[in-house]
Amino acid sequence: MSAFDPKRTSPSGIVALLVGRMRRWSSCPLSGQCCCPMQRPKAKSWAGCYPVRGQAECAIFGYEENMLNETTIATFKSSLRGELIKQSDTRYDTARKVYNGMIDRRPLLIANCADVADVITAVKFGRDHKLVVSIRGGGHNAAGLSVCDDGLVIDLGRINYVHADPKNRTVLAGGGALWGDVDHAAHAFGLAVPAGIISTTGVGGLTLGGGIGHLTRQCGLTVDNLLSVDMVLADGRFVTASAKENPDLFWAVRGGGGNFGVVTAFLFKAHPIHTSYAGPMLWSMEDAAEILRWYRDFIGKAPNALNGFFAFLTVPPGAPFPTHLHNKKMCGVVWCYTGPLKNAKRVFAPIRKFKAPALDFVGPIPHPVLQSMFDPIFPPGLQWYWKADFVRDLSDEAIPLHVKHGALLPTMHSTMHLYPIDGKASTIKKTATPWCYRDAKWAAVMVGVDPDPANKEKISNWAKDYWTALHPYSAGGAYINFMMEEGDERIRATYGKNYDRLAKVKKRYDPTNFFHVNQNIKPAK
Ligand SMILES: Cc1cc2nc3c(=O)[nH]c(=O)nc-3n(C[C@H](O)[C@H](O)[C@H](O)COP(=O)(O)OP(=O)(O)OC[C@H]3O[C@@H](n4cnc5c(N)ncnc54)[C@H](O)[C@@H]3O)c2cc1C
Repeated sequence: MSAFDPKRTSPSGIVALLVGRMRRWSSCPLSGQCCCPMQRPKAKSWAGCYPVRGQAECAIFGYEENMLNETTIATFKSSLRGELIKQSDTRYDTARKVYNGMIDRRPLLIANCADVADVITAVKFGRDHKLVVSIRGGGHNAAGLSVCDDGLVIDLGRINYVHADPKNRTVLAGGGALWGDVDHAAHAFGLAVPAGIISTTGVGGLTLGGGIGHLTRQCGLTVDNLLSVDMVLADGRFVTASAKENPDLFWAVRGGGGNFGVVTAFLFKAHPIHTSYAGPMLWSMEDAAEILRWYRDFIGKAPNALNGFFAFLTVPPGAPFPTHLHNKKMCGVVWCYTGPLKNAKRVFAPIRKFKAPALDFVGPIPHPVLQSMFDPIFPPGLQWYWKADFVRDLSDEAIPLHVKHGALLPTMHSTMHLYPIDGKASTIKKTATPWCYRDAKWAAVMVGVDPDPANKEKISNWAKDYWTALHPYSAGGAYINFMMEEGDERIRATYGKNYDRLAKVKKRYDPTNFFHVNQNIKPAK
């Protein structure tokens, strides 16, 4: 290893030279011997250090004696029922892709786990070989937190079974199931589980972060309907967490993300919802300020059975949208009424009376159809950049700023949503789950989206500018599932007083922070 000079070799050259495990360190192993002023981390031996972006920001490539050789990898592969994908495999480039096309990470290995036994094996392998490990549910996370560079991805996609139990009104979903799988299985029995608004999203990440959607006002967040989880912990142990078993862990997973282990099964309470009266209503952008003020006052007083999230959007140029609205920037509300259908027209009468919408697609709709209504507009692989905040009060001062930035939507797919989080969700105590913004009224999210990577800056800048203008009117933290990687302070702001309790649970179940590719909660000291 001492045969090459790292300062003369490019980072990719170093990677090519080393046969063992590569790591990119945030601190310098050669402190004092190179330009980098950082501290020496604990490691067994080193290949070198290469200053990539000048003195202030070195990229450090280390090499540990604990090598991953072909035999070790082959043994790992043969112990899995699922598949192990290596960088040299033809499937590798497809397997490492996540929903957000902006994310381009290159793991060493991807373990497509077929069952719990595979997950246990993968966790132990990752731990024994000191690999960075990420957990993949549906791969939808905007920050790409299900995939890592130079480490092991534990992909749960094959563990996607769903069992609906009509007698007990529960739904059991595998750790890698998608919401479409749940909607499909539950609907057959006239049941629904509160989820998000796109059916290709993973049950895993959405649930562990909280879960906001069409049923939030009626049934609470997804975590408010979680009854138990099965998990593989950092030390490889398999446990169940519920109100009765490991209650501290059960508290933590209801909002604390993938920090505590790999969830292999989720048991949910389901609700008797089969057909809702739902869909989008759109109004002209010129009316946006008036609609926003009216919406603010209306939704807070509406029955819990009526949910409606506000949106700025561009009408897609195709069926079923009328031609005269194609490509028009508009404001709207996507409604979902889950009360008796015979009452629906009466509930919607004041809405339609307030201002006749330019488009009214609201009517009776099977719940899974509502859940997947927007899937075709947002296929995998688009570029996504998110910014978010919780909002307690949609003030008269904030509304003109919303209108200003909403009118500047940079691309057809870009959007801003205000999701109500009041109703049933606000009846849960702030400390009952880590999700502590129970007194906020909305989760706001500005999402720049476009198929073209060349528009990355354009969509990101729009989202950042919009967020910067509105952040002073926000409650402080943001919904963890609507955030990019924004640093520890934002994570702390999101959990507020619950952060320290989360850190203590983290210390108990994952003291070495083995699961850190997530919105990370550091183990308490
Ligand atoms: C188009 C789109 C629409 C969305 N709409 C909504 C919405 O309506 N409501 C809402 O609340 N959110 C919504 N989200 C946000 C969504 O909740 C997050 O992106 C979430 O992280 C996705 O979960 P996933 O399993 O697909 O993600 P992944 O990218 O697979 O994982 C995200 C994080 O969760 C962890 N994780 C996933 N599964 C497990 C598991 N089984 N065990 C342990 N850790 C796990 C991962 O390690 C990672 O840290 C939306 C996202 C997108 C892209």
